Amino acid sequence: MTRPRRLHHPGVEPSCPRCGGDGLIVEREGEHAVAHVCVCASSKPCPMCDDTRWVRGDKPPDGRKAPVTRCDCHRFEQRLALLSRAHLPGRLAHCTFDNYSITNPVEQAEPYGIARALAHGFKPGGINRGFVLWGPVGRGKTHLLAATVRVLVLEHGVEARFVEFSHLLSALKGRFDAGKGAAAILDELVAVEVLAIDELGKGMLTEWELSVIDELVSRRYNAARTVLATSNYKPGPPTGVARPNLADNRPEMQPSLSDRVGERVHSRLAEMCEIRYLGGKDWRQRPQARW
Ligand SMILES: [Zn+2]
Ligand SMILES: [Zn+2]
Repeated sequence: MTRPRRLHHPGVEPSCPRCGGDGLIVEREGEHAVAHVCVCASSKPCPMCDDTRWVRGDKPPDGRKAPVTRCDCHRFEQRLALLSRAHLPGRLAHCTFDNYSITNPVEQAEPYGIARALAHGFKPGGINRGFVLWGPVGRGKTHLLAATVRVLVLEHGVEARFVEFSHLLSALKGRFDAGKGAAAILDELVAVEVLAIDELGKGMLTEWELSVIDELVSRRYNAARTVLATSNYKPGPPTGVARPNLADNRPEMQPSLSDRVGERVHSRLAEMCEIRYLGGKDWRQRPQARW
């Protein structure tokens, strides 16, 4: 697979200890992860364009005027702004594919490879099959989801949006209760090129909430727009178990993803996405865990 050239800020110091030489700093600011140009590049005028944000290309042989194009510093800043607008939670600001550690190759290498291949091989404007990573908590599903969003934005300039399922539902419900309607939020989440949903199926899930999720997934399905998701619930047909029984962790006592989000949403996701189990050791039990 040929990777698109990773965009760098032209003014970066290659040996900068803060950014590692690409000019990118992603850090937690309040609730969200925000991307900045590293001070090694931002503290002086851009060496390519002297901060005009435009560069003149080579003079064509036919004597016409050399074309003027946007400087890489401008394109780099645009991608950083796009990453800040992806609404990655602040606690995921550090998550990349390189710092995801595989503790169990049998249960993690394939889902890791699928996420990474989608991120680097994404075709902007085309049809791209997403993924659903499911499995127990603490295996790094959310880390891989955030790493995928990061590469999609920085490498391809894709507009992506990360949502935590239960936060999304409460935001929609809040607007609905305030008489403002949920349509504006839903329209935005339908339109974005890639939607990453963390913890799909979590929460109490009222009939109204289920109808909203159905509408969101159906509209993205009809528009052939990529969905990425993580879930603690096993994809598969309905089992009839509606609520997780925390006191009884036998598999047959746990609801499936169909039980939680409805059969129609489940079957659309199964068409649009690679579905993979992500197992391995619980990151939260490990001494080097970051959260
Ligand atoms: Zn730097
Ligand atoms: Zn420049």
